[in-house]
Amino acid sequence: METDHLPPRTAVDEHRYAVLRDLLADGGVVVLSGAGMSTASGIPDYRGPDGLRRVQPMQHAEFAGSAQGRQRYWARAYTGWERFDAARPNAAHVSVADLQAAGLVTGIITQNVDGLHQRAGATGVVELHGNLGRVVCLDCGETYDREQVHAWLAVANPDFDPGTVAEVRPDGDVVLPEDLVRTFRAPRCLVCGHDRLKPDVVFFGGSVPREVVEEAFEVTGRADMLLVLGSSLQVMSGYRFVRRAARDGIPVGVVTRGRTRGDAEATVQLDALLDDVLPRLVEDLVDTGGAEGAATR
Ligand SMILES: [Zn+2]
Repeated sequence: METDHLPPRTAVDEHRYAVLRDLLADGGVVVLSGAGMSTASGIPDYRGPDGLRRVQPMQHAEFAGSAQGRQRYWARAYTGWERFDAARPNAAHVSVADLQAAGLVTGIITQNVDGLHQRAGATGVVELHGNLGRVVCLDCGETYDREQVHAWLAVANPDFDPGTVAEVRPDGDVVLPEDLVRTFRAPRCLVCGHDRLKPDVVFFGGSVPREVVEEAFEVTGRADMLLVLGSSLQVMSGYRFVRRAARDGIPVGVVTRGRTRGDAEATVQLDALLDDVLPRLVEDLVDTGGAEGAATR
């Protein structure tokens, strides 16, 4: 696996770790996860540890409003799909699933579209930005399985050869030269025939569906603690839950590399890699069967 996109490892602050562990031990934890959750699975973050955006992701207006935009998206997404689809849960995903199975985590909200929480065994995951495994027609609403669409694209583009893919992005996108993109045949809806088939994800500049936002607010409203994992909270779609929790007096823990927009609201902020923290939390709170862990089962 490539590791050059991973942020550098840093020492875990022991005092802050203890504060975080004791908060989790009380249970009722709702996880809010971001791209940092999946970097160790080989899916790089759009932003580095400095919080700056590294690449320009697809914009909703460009996708919805332009056949060329859709062609560009699908050419890139087709190219990146097999790499993206091959990504597997890492120790952080497994730890969250373990904490959920132990009854400490009672809700999971993710900004990721890779489905890796579920693949690790987590259930009831609220996907704020959708899931790349589904495709929806913007005109008639028909939905398709991404694997099916990928198979169509393979048939429709037998001579398309992007060569070696350097890097896949969080939404399964890759960088391709424009002249190659222009040769790509994008998918069409089988029901209405239009070409506005879109992965069932929220692009930058798009909005999270109202019912998904309401579900996420409902989940966080029941929380005794909000635990932010691998997100710098730069986008409001995630940050608003941190603000709501802080307003309601719910403790907020943040574990991610670098600074976040939510540091002011955080009860405890741990600047660390998730795989240095989460498996240890499982060990301390679940595996040992200690008094606190046992009481929550
Ligand atoms: Zn349609």
